[in-house]
Amino acid sequence: MDMIDPFGRTISYLRVSVTDRCDFRCTYCMAEDMAFLPKKDLLSLEELDRLCTVFIEKGVRKLRLTGGEPLVRKNIMHLVRQISRHLESGALEELTLTTNGSQLSRFAAELADCGVKRINVSLDTLGPEKFRQITRWGNLDKVMDGIDAAQAAGLKVKLNAVALKDFNDAELPEMLRWAHGRGMELTVIETMPMGEIDADRTDQYLPLSLLRAALERQFTLTDTPYKTGGPARYVHVAETGGRLGFITPMTHNFCESCNRVRLTCTGTLYMCLGQEDAADLRAPLRASEGNELVADAIDEAIGRKPKGHDFIIDRRTNRPSVSRHMSVTGG
Ligand code: SAM
Repeated sequence: MDMIDPFGRTISYLRVSVTDRCDFRCTYCMAEDMAFLPKKDLLSLEELDRLCTVFIEKGVRKLRLTGGEPLVRKNIMHLVRQISRHLESGALEELTLTTNGSQLSRFAAELADCGVKRINVSLDTLGPEKFRQITRWGNLDKVMDGIDAAQAAGLKVKLNAVALKDFNDAELPEMLRWAHGRGMELTVIETMPMGEIDADRTDQYLPLSLLRAALERQFTLTDTPYKTGGPARYVHVAETGGRLGFITPMTHNFCESCNRVRLTCTGTLYMCLGQEDAADLRAPLRASEGNELVADAIDEAIGRKPKGHDFIIDRRTNRPSVSRHMSVTGG
């Protein structure tokens, strides 16, 4: 039985945040002194696999692991290997992951061996010092090694950069040339008001309409009908021959075509990235060895998936639209 929400949208995409922990502290994502979930609250890898399997049986065709940083969860490759059996059986079309790249040189080959074909790497700058500044703890060399390892293992790499006013806007043309020169797509994202951070989001927020206008002074951008089922809209860049994506949750959301739900590492299901409403799947999962209770809880949750979100960043609305950080539900 397909999962169809009250607005007729079929849910076929699951994002799973396998940990809320991360080895970076990106300033727009987390506060420096984050309180993380106690380990005892986490689902085990076996429980995560069981939940993913129920979703796949209910019609999920694409599954993305995220976090926190998914590759810092202990024994994460065990989960990847387990889920990959659904790729082999054909029940799952795609297994992928969003990562900051710091651990990729260790895991790229094994990911490819498990049937992962493409990954998203988050990278906001090519400057080592700026990289340290924005991630607080990150080392750009390690990420670059990770990207090299991923490409060497045959993984398709897409870069995601959050567009940050007066931080990386001037650098994005160079990043675009660099990414396309290495055969990687680049997608830029508007910063979203999720969770308390130390910085003021109004200072960081850059509407992508402004960025696009600036890029058009150097590049010939042509809208393309290409879509991946997600919120990105793509242009072709004549000068590089590559594709550039724009994700605009602030200036224009694409909730009407949303096909996804998000599961956290504690078994909480969020039906929308930008709303607080959630369903607990851990209790029904643990209440019985069979999957009927959890399947019913999923149906009940999909039955109240909201129409969409309305993020606001301005000086009057000086608080996050949702209280949880992006690291809880993942990107
Ligand atoms: N650690 C992994 C990574 O870096 O890709 C996965 C989790 S991270 C939360 C996923 C994505 O969310 C990253 O691309 C990050 O830049 C983005 N992100 C985090 N906070 C955000 C915010 N407030 N607005 C927009 N994007 C955000």
